Amino acid sequence: MSQIQGLAAHAAGAELLPFRYTPGDLKPLDVEVRISHCGVCHSDLHLISNDWGISQYPFIPGHEIVGTITAIGSGVTTLTVGQRVGIGWQSNSCGQCEWCTQGLENLCPTSESTCVHRHGGYADAVRVNNRFAIPLPDALPSEQAAPLLCGGITVYNPLRSHGINPSSRVGIVGIGGLGHLALQFARVFGAEVTAFSTSAAKEEEARALGAQHFVNTRETKAMREVANTFDFILTTINADQDWMAYIQALRPTGTLCFVGVPPSPVSFHAFPLIAGVRTITGSPIGSPHRLREMVDVAARHGVKAQTESFRMDKANEAIDKVKKNKVRYRAVLAN
Ligand code: NAP
Ligand code: ZN
Repeated sequence: MSQIQGLAAHAAGAELLPFRYTPGDLKPLDVEVRISHCGVCHSDLHLISNDWGISQYPFIPGHEIVGTITAIGSGVTTLTVGQRVGIGWQSNSCGQCEWCTQGLENLCPTSESTCVHRHGGYADAVRVNNRFAIPLPDALPSEQAAPLLCGGITVYNPLRSHGINPSSRVGIVGIGGLGHLALQFARVFGAEVTAFSTSAAKEEEARALGAQHFVNTRETKAMREVANTFDFILTTINADQDWMAYIQALRPTGTLCFVGVPPSPVSFHAFPLIAGVRTITGSPIGSPHRLREMVDVAARHGVKAQTESFRMDKANEAIDKVKKNKVRYRAVLAN
C-alpha cells in the first residue's frame, strides 16, 4: 500500500482522529499485513495518555493485530502472501544479542514495539519484521485470536515459565482482558485457580472461565482470609493496591508476578520475603517461539478471548468503555 489509513492520537489523552501515513519502500525483512482485527489492550490507553513517558505524537495505537499478508520483503522466506498472521506488542529485535540468540527476543535491549515511535494496528495495514508475524491455527477465529497476541502471551508466558501444574494454587488478580485469558490458561495447566476481582458481577463468568474460587477484593477481611494460600499470584491490574496483602496471601516459596502496571512504585516489607523465601517478579509479553506455542495451545485446548466487537471507526467508543472497566472482556476493532 502506498498509504496506510489509521486512527491516531495527536496529543496526550486526545481522542483518536483519522490519520494517513506513507510507509515508503518495504524493507527486505518486513511483511505488510492487511488488518482485519485489532484488540484494545489497556497498554494502548497508557500510551495514548503518555503514562509511561514514551509516547510520540501523532501515533496510531494497536498491538493485538490479526490480518492477511499482502506483501513480503525480498529477504522473507518463511511467510507468503495470503497467509493469515497475528502480530503482538513486539515488531522487531536485533536478532544478534545474547537474548535474541537464546530465543528470548522479548528481552532484547533494542526491541521495537509495534506502536511505540511507530504506527500500530488501529489502521487498515501495518508492517513488521517477518519474525514477529505469527501464523495462526485455522481453529482460532480472527476476532478471538487478536487478544491472544498481547493479552494472551503476557499471561501464558509467566504461567508456563514458572512451571504451573496441577499441584499449583494460582491467583489471578483483575479479571479484564489479560485476567480472563489467565484464568483459562491457568486451568489448562491444571492449577487450582482463584480469581481476585473488584467486580462482584464477574463471579459467575470468572467461574465459567476456569476459576474454582472467587475473592471479592472490595470486601474487608477478604484478603486476610486467603493469607498463606497461593504458590503463584499473577496481577494484571493497572491500579495501586495494598501489595502487602498479596504478599501475605503467598505460601512459603510463593511468587507474586506483575504483568499489569500500577501507577505508583510498589512498596512492601521485606520480612515475609525473608521468612517464607517469597519472590516478587514481573514478566514482559513473550518471544515469537512462545507466541507460536501459545496460539497452538489455545487452539488445541479451546482458550478463547471473550470479545466485544466494534467497527474500527468506533475505536474511541471502545477506548472509553475500556477506561470505565465495562468491557467483557476484550474490545476488538474490526475493519
Ligand atoms: P483491562 O482489560 O482494563 O483489565 C484490567 C482489570 O484490572 C479490570 O478489568 C479490573 O478487573 C482491574 N482493575 C481496574 N481498575 C482497578 C482498580 N482501580 N482497582 C483494582 N482493580 C482494578 O486491562 P488489560 O488490557 O488486561 O491490561 C492490564 C494491565 O496489564 C495494564 O496495565 C497493561 O498496560 C498491562 N499489560 C502488560 C503487559 C506486559 O507485557 N507485562 C502486556 C499487556 C498489558 P476487576 O473488574 O476484576 O477488578
Ligand atoms: Zn498489550
